[in-house]
Amino acid sequence: MDIKGMNGEIYWRSKKFPQAIAKGYESFDVLEHLTREAHAQGIKVDAWLVDFAEGERGAAFREHPEWAMLNPNGTTTATETLGVAKRRYPYVWMCPARRPGYTDQWLLPMIEEIAVSYSVDSIHHDYVRYPGDVAPEGYCFCDYCLKHIPRHAMLSYETRPQRFRVKYIQERIEANWWSDPTMIPADWQERDRREMADYILNGRTIPGGPPDMRYYFYDYRIHQIDTFVREVRERVRKINPKIEISAAVFKNPVQSGRFIGQRWHEWSRWVDVYMPMTYRSHFAGSFEDYLAHLTEITQRQLEWTRREQPLLAGIASTYLYREEMQPLEDLRERVGELKALPATADAERADKARAIGQTYGVLRVRLAQFAPERERDLASLVAAVTDGDARAATPEAIDKLTAALNALRRDLPPGFCPPEKLLRAIEAARQAKPDGIIIFAAGNLTIEKLWPAVEMAFKR
Ligand SMILES: [Zn+2]
Repeated sequence: MDIKGMNGEIYWRSKKFPQAIAKGYESFDVLEHLTREAHAQGIKVDAWLVDFAEGERGAAFREHPEWAMLNPNGTTTATETLGVAKRRYPYVWMCPARRPGYTDQWLLPMIEEIAVSYSVDSIHHDYVRYPGDVAPEGYCFCDYCLKHIPRHAMLSYETRPQRFRVKYIQERIEANWWSDPTMIPADWQERDRREMADYILNGRTIPGGPPDMRYYFYDYRIHQIDTFVREVRERVRKINPKIEISAAVFKNPVQSGRFIGQRWHEWSRWVDVYMPMTYRSHFAGSFEDYLAHLTEITQRQLEWTRREQPLLAGIASTYLYREEMQPLEDLRERVGELKALPATADAERADKARAIGQTYGVLRVRLAQFAPERERDLASLVAAVTDGDARAATPEAIDKLTAALNALRRDLPPGFCPPEKLLRAIEAARQAKPDGIIIFAAGNLTIEKLWPAVEMAFKR
């Protein structure tokens, strides 16, 4: 169960962080009720935390804006945009490195409080990394990191800090690193944030050699995430050695080390279970391609971890249904766009009405097959919005259609998401012989009416 969400809101009655408790949960302790009721039924409870992402209006960023990750321009991830449509990115990632900072003043004490106060079976790491979909290279260049990246790689000495030049004795330029040169420039302190960041990303540790400085940047980020994962293990073990640690991680630890500081296959001392998110959304290609790649990469994950800890192949049901869901998602988007148009924009509204009609034409085929009545109801709501080039589309009609589409998305008819796809994905994961399978997330299985398929797949 998610107990610390993407906006920094928490779902237990924290004594240390009452300001972070989600609205409506001030006097209802979800975690207390959940652990009691689940344990009575023999169900384990994993306390799932979004680690390093926070909300712009979350308590941590509100109280400590100085804890946020900064890019070379000195701004937070909330100034970034996503996709070609340049959607605003609504989350603030917090610097994992800064001490004192978010890690040791907020996240670790939260996890300790859970371990002390609740009988959870595990702590589950999510977002235990640097940002990936926005600017994977851009963070963190906060003042702390600008000081500590060169220090981490020991690019100069703090004691007897003289400047040593490269002695070009060896023929291969980079072989002269042996001469122990000072690797940060003499005017380092006079540089501004952008210049320092540019040097860390594009500089050469040996003048005349390759532009290799960013190696230390990647290593530093990996080290910060490793340190946090290790500290969680140590602190939780001290409080209650029965509490296990699990982690949702990206599919390829070698690449995620480079892009998001998450070199997770080396965490075997600090986590008890690996749960790679081998979702279809992280692969290119068709559903058939995905099945083959799911088997292959799960085999590789077992090699990378050397089977030092159990690894559960992670499948997300929703993304399996890209082909089935896309028309519904497209339709919801088009209707949203129509709603945003001014009533006077006749030509644009007519265009949008045609697009809505076409997209519905795709969706209706599948819907009519599994829920003919719902299809007829929806068809009349679509007609009310599109008839006469949307001339009669009142805001009320658009809202009605929006509500009906949202209701459909929350409660799909059985069969709309074919259970065979989930069964085949489970089978593809099994081919790799993982220690188990984890399906993210239970709520979607309910929406997609896939529990009978799960039951069938795991029947012994
Ligand atoms: Zn930082």
